[in-house]
Amino acid sequence: MISFENSQYIRDQHKYTEAVALEHIRPVARYFDDHEHEEPWDFINFIWNEGRKTLKILAPGEENSEESFMLQMHVNEAISWGDMGFYMCLPYPSLGGTAITSTGTEGQKNRLIERFRGNKPTWTGMALTESHCGSDAMAIRARAVQDGDSWVLNGEKLFVTNARKSLDDSQGFLVIWATTDPAAGHKGIKPFLVEAGTPGVKITKLEDKLGLRSSDTAVLLLEDCRVPFENLLGGPDGTGFKGAMKTFDSARPAIAACGCGIARATLDFLKEKLAEEGIKIRYGLPRNLMTSLERDIVEMDAQLSAAWLLTIKSAWLVDQDKPNTVESSMAKAKIGEVASKITQKGVELLGALGYSKKTLIEKWMRDGRIIDIFEGTGEINRLVIARRILGYSGRELK
Ligand SMILES: Cc1cc2nc3c(=O)[nH]c(=O)nc-3n(C[C@H](O)[C@H](O)[C@H](O)COP(=O)(O)OP(=O)(O)OC[C@H]3O[C@@H](n4cnc5c(N)ncnc54)[C@H](O)[C@@H]3O)c2cc1C
Repeated sequence: MISFENSQYIRDQHKYTEAVALEHIRPVARYFDDHEHEEPWDFINFIWNEGRKTLKILAPGEENSEESFMLQMHVNEAISWGDMGFYMCLPYPSLGGTAITSTGTEGQKNRLIERFRGNKPTWTGMALTESHCGSDAMAIRARAVQDGDSWVLNGEKLFVTNARKSLDDSQGFLVIWATTDPAAGHKGIKPFLVEAGTPGVKITKLEDKLGLRSSDTAVLLLEDCRVPFENLLGGPDGTGFKGAMKTFDSARPAIAACGCGIARATLDFLKEKLAEEGIKIRYGLPRNLMTSLERDIVEMDAQLSAAWLLTIKSAWLVDQDKPNTVESSMAKAKIGEVASKITQKGVELLGALGYSKKTLIEKWMRDGRIIDIFEGTGEINRLVIARRILGYSGRELK
């Protein structure tokens, strides 16, 4: 049975993460929003040198709890309650690591853990999206050709989160999806591990973005980028494109938790401002007796709770090693809408103050928009849910 009671350990870790967010994130969140492409090194170094001693979930190989994914959701939520751009900067395996855990051999997983035991902050990322395809990931054109005991990669990847941190700022690596055989459709698509310093891979542009501006998102060019044969994740008989979908089963709850963090930050701030004006929310009153403002707040509370419950259900399934494709898409689709609605309402209810840069609410509205875009847009996640529930294949329901 799913339990709605968090363990004392999760409660303590969540509290600690919120304290980190208050001390190390909120005071500089505006600065890094105003200075995109500068990196929050004080925060990064703090997490690497100090934070990971308490938040062992951020130090791969150290955290060995049966509820480790659930714990991760609480940490993601609290960091993003501080600022989601900083969550994206965390020196820990994130999406690239998830791809390796979902598709790699035991040896490749150990290689990931070893990399995070070094002296300096390290990152990984994952590159799937290309200029002509994001949602339709099966249409990727980046090529991988076997040449002796190597794979040679060519192509261009767009919107690669943490590419700069993985390749230029650290001895990290990227998981790059490419096709070994365009005629084979999804069966030809495979994940390759590309290490920092590999000749033939370079960043050609850093994106200017609406939100998450403390996080780097890059365009990546692969020109005869040669990687050893063993860098094919999962080996020659690995999971292939199915591995990308398995990656999303874990990545979607992680992003959903971040969205819950942004939405909660907004609601907490709104309630604080209302309390300063002497306005109390009369919970429990029949709706017809409530003010319009009270109805708005109660509705937002309810929507956020629903999104959080879907998120923790999908996380619980991961910890139980049970399939969670439908649940993770449900969580992500739900919070994608809810985070946008709550942050927009926050700006609306605070009027000019909400629209000004005096508070972080307008920033949370911009940051929150991403939840419904990456790791599958809302429409794509609804398609995933519909296909699974109705029993249609991807070809039958597009
Ligand atoms: C800040 C940021 C970070 C990112 N990080 C990464 C990363 O690290 N790695 C990576 O590989 N990618 C990354 N991405 C890319 C992201 O995953 C894609 O933007 C996303 O998958 C959507 O693809 P697209 O932008 O090509 O939009 P499109 O796929 O062109 O979609 C455009 C619109 O059409 C809708 N649509 C598309 N297909 C359908 C359909 N079949 N039915 C109904 N509606 C449909 C979509 O929902 C959307 O509203 C990032 C993007 C951003 C903005």
